[in-house]
Amino acid sequence: MHHLISIREAVFEESKKLAEDIFSFKFSISGSKDFIFKAGQYVVLQISGNIRRSYSIASAPSLSENKFELIADIIPDGAGSTYLMGLKTGQKISFLGPAGNFGLSEELDNDLFFICTGAGLAPIKSMIEELVVTEKYREHKIHLIFGTRTKDRILCEDNFEKLQKDGVIDSYNIYLSRDKTPGKYNFGYVTEFVKNSDSVLLRDGNFFICGNLDMVKSVREALENKGVDSSKIRFEAFG
Ligand SMILES: Cc1cc2nc3c(=O)[nH]c(=O)nc-3n(C[C@H](O)[C@H](O)[C@H](O)COP(=O)(O)OP(=O)(O)OC[C@H]3O[C@@H](n4cnc5c(N)ncnc54)[C@H](O)[C@@H]3O)c2cc1C
Repeated sequence: MHHLISIREAVFEESKKLAEDIFSFKFSISGSKDFIFKAGQYVVLQISGNIRRSYSIASAPSLSENKFELIADIIPDGAGSTYLMGLKTGQKISFLGPAGNFGLSEELDNDLFFICTGAGLAPIKSMIEELVVTEKYREHKIHLIFGTRTKDRILCEDNFEKLQKDGVIDSYNIYLSRDKTPGKYNFGYVTEFVKNSDSVLLRDGNFFICGNLDMVKSVREALENKGVDSSKIRFEAFG
């Protein structure tokens, strides 16, 4: 599947805890060939032997000249998780990519709905930041719907709250599936957003969904139940 994509090297720079069990990892690219990717694409890290793990690029292409950022949900004893957490500054890594077709299409409607859970925010963060730096956000209404289990697993909340305050994104909704913390958060799954939204509004939009397979499946079903054409829905499932 990846045989047409060349193996590249990068240097691990730094990691940072973003939320409970979720970290960002920054890499710089060595070598003379430019690293060119589209917002929404992923890289495949060579872990050891035949073990490889895919991670979506979380940084915007226009802000990532020969560098990139990943966001990983760290699973105890997971092969990719253990590898990433063990990286030392300056260490070389091998990867394949960029790969994948998830991303912003050429023809976009007015309303763009980004629906994601957990580390599924990674490719969506890249897309939204790209819309911001290229000023293309001005042509759209951007809606971000983020879901996770508990309050301590919310990602990049300050960044997106600021974008909303600045009028760059038009709506920002967070759904917590296991945390009834009162206040600004919604309780439940991100599918609730779709179920509670006006179908006329939804039918006019483009959708970008990212998360685990079950989440992607249930959001797609909820959208189709609202009469959204499947050609308007793009998604990446993390397996
Ligand atoms: C195209 C693509 C893009 C992806 N992008 C990202 C990304 O940006 N960020 C990211 O974090 N992941 C991403 N993934 C998923 C990633 O590739 C790994 O599959 C995932 O991080 C688990 O890897 P691991 O090697 O640490 O655990 P593994 O060694 O694969 O799994 C260890 C064990 O944990 C179980 N497990 C799996 N998920 C969970 C969970 N959530 N909680 C508890 N147990 C679990 C597994 O069933 C397995 O038994 C992407 C996947 C694909 C296909």
